[in-house]
Amino acid sequence: MIRLYVPFIDDREVAEVAKVLATGYLTQGPKVAEFEQEVARLVGCRYAFAMSSCTTALHLALVVLGIGRGDEVLVSDLTFPATANVVVQQGARPVLVDVRLDTYNMDVGDLEARVTPRCRAIIPVHAFGLAADMDGIMEVASRHRLVVIEDAACALMARYRGRMCGTIGDIGCFSFHPRKSITTGEGGMIVTNDESLAQRIALLRSHGGVRGEFYFRFEEAGFNYRLSDVQAAVGLAQLAKLDWIMARKRELAARMTERLASIPAVTPPVEPEGCFHSYQSYVVMLDDGLDRDRVIAAMRQRGVETTLGTYALHAQPFFQRAYGYTPGELPNSYRIFRQSLTLPFYPQMTEEEMDQVIGALQGSLAEVRSETRRPE
Ligand SMILES: *Cc1c(COP(=O)(O)O)cnc(C)c1O
Repeated sequence: MIRLYVPFIDDREVAEVAKVLATGYLTQGPKVAEFEQEVARLVGCRYAFAMSSCTTALHLALVVLGIGRGDEVLVSDLTFPATANVVVQQGARPVLVDVRLDTYNMDVGDLEARVTPRCRAIIPVHAFGLAADMDGIMEVASRHRLVVIEDAACALMARYRGRMCGTIGDIGCFSFHPRKSITTGEGGMIVTNDESLAQRIALLRSHGGVRGEFYFRFEEAGFNYRLSDVQAAVGLAQLAKLDWIMARKRELAARMTERLASIPAVTPPVEPEGCFHSYQSYVVMLDDGLDRDRVIAAMRQRGVETTLGTYALHAQPFFQRAYGYTPGELPNSYRIFRQSLTLPFYPQMTEEEMDQVIGALQGSLAEVRSETRRPE
């Protein structure tokens, strides 16, 4: 079976973890600090805070920005539900925004159309590692006085017009889930250039406690959203490989796009001028006539794991029930939810594995096409 993703873990992570375990210091400590400094340096921001996940990072971002009951937050509709769930958890209302068919990212025209007087923030997503249209989004934000939290879960090292994804809005959130470019098992990071937000993040990440001479003083009712030194050790070993991972992924993406050019009914991902795609996933669109789920099944039979691109939140039961959305109401997002296909894609992928993926795709498309024609 060719897997969708294979994390790049070897002796280096094992050695780093063993060192931390030997110190006996297992919670947030010196390794977390080192990991944070390294990420801050890489993306070029003043503050970075390691978190237990990107989801807790996004949640804490809303908390420190003071977003809660009665507020509305504009969220890209095409994303993993965590992006909007945190808004719901804060008692605020997610206002789902449609995306563009070519980039899978927030459509600035639709964003503008959905702004209400209750809106306080925008959460754009850099879908699969491609930067959202940040100039347009920041322009809408400044005109309506909205803060911007970038869901950069998939976009570590992705760039937009010379700037690093995650550092363009007020706060950026990264994920280190095993499906992302580097992993700590579970884990995430908040980045910001704002000193007062940084202070609040540091305080609330760890129970709202401030260390005094002998014991803590609890200034706020905070969370435990910390990453451990054991995980940070994995993260540091992963960061050492990041240049290679990115270079290899971009090389593979170029190769994959070239191979797909000869396969009809499949549209490969784009990389617009000025964007540097980090290719967390390699996601294609299938023509409307093709039943994507049948293609997934046919690929599986040929020993290749694939999945949908990601979710249209408005078409999920919770968002329908809670806010009255109906499937297809945000047409581009819905179409991508139904017709997108994530192909296996990881830096260790060999030429033979890519051949197998391409071969399986050609076979599966032919099979599904003949199936759909039969009833006529
Ligand atoms: C993976 C992902 C998340 C959640 O990240 P976790 O670290 O698993 O909490 C959020 N948003 C997007 C767009 C993601 O891809």
